Amino acid sequence: MSDGGQGVNGIAERLSGVRREIARALADSGRPAGAAQLVCVSKTFPAEAVRVALEAGQRVFGENYVQEAKAKWPALRAEFPDVELHMIGPLQSNKAREAVALFDVIHSLDRPSLAAALAAEARRGAAMPRLLVQVNTGEEPQKAGIAPAHLAGFLAECREIHGLAIAGLMCIPPADEPPSPHFALLAKLAAASGLSLVSMGMSADFEQAIMLGATHVRVGSAIFGAR
Ligand SMILES: *Cc1c(COP(=O)(O)O)cnc(C)c1O
Repeated sequence: MSDGGQGVNGIAERLSGVRREIARALADSGRPAGAAQLVCVSKTFPAEAVRVALEAGQRVFGENYVQEAKAKWPALRAEFPDVELHMIGPLQSNKAREAVALFDVIHSLDRPSLAAALAAEARRGAAMPRLLVQVNTGEEPQKAGIAPAHLAGFLAECREIHGLAIAGLMCIPPADEPPSPHFALLAKLAAASGLSLVSMGMSADFEQAIMLGATHVRVGSAIFGAR
């Protein structure tokens, strides 16, 4: 761990540092305060670490794994009922039911079979989380997401065949490239599609993402330490 095994020490300070940097990036880019929301990514970190962030006032959290979120969050949510929980990791279609029950927002709608599984839950009467489509902006073969050229078709399929409302787009740029061109592309695709939510930027690059229009930044290690 980058915090030298100090456990929860420093989480509140790092969280307030990230909040200050978000506020500064918004101001520097002429965007209103509050235009980008911090999704505090707590995957792999235990409930006692999450509790420090909750006690510091953070309410929006991201998790990558349904099983981990199911184990960690019901008890925390009983104590902090105004928490908003975001699914940011790959979602298996056979976990759609649990994910819909647990999460308020899903950032990782990345393929037709998952859209069909979510639509089946909606037909059963489940309240649907807000949905973002993950875009594979780098067109990396090993990475999840819809290729930019297929986005319009996939959005139409979600709406017209599955009756799903899509609220925004998400991307994870290639690890070995400067992220800014990918952020610019995602913002452009969202604007062209009439979608208002843009989820991009992690610990290493959230300021750049905000400069380019992120409405949600997903920050984990800069707050909780190395995983
Ligand atoms: C883990 C993860 C993050 C947070 O990454 P950090 O570099 O720790 O800030 C953001 N988005 C996704 C999709 C992730 O899986």
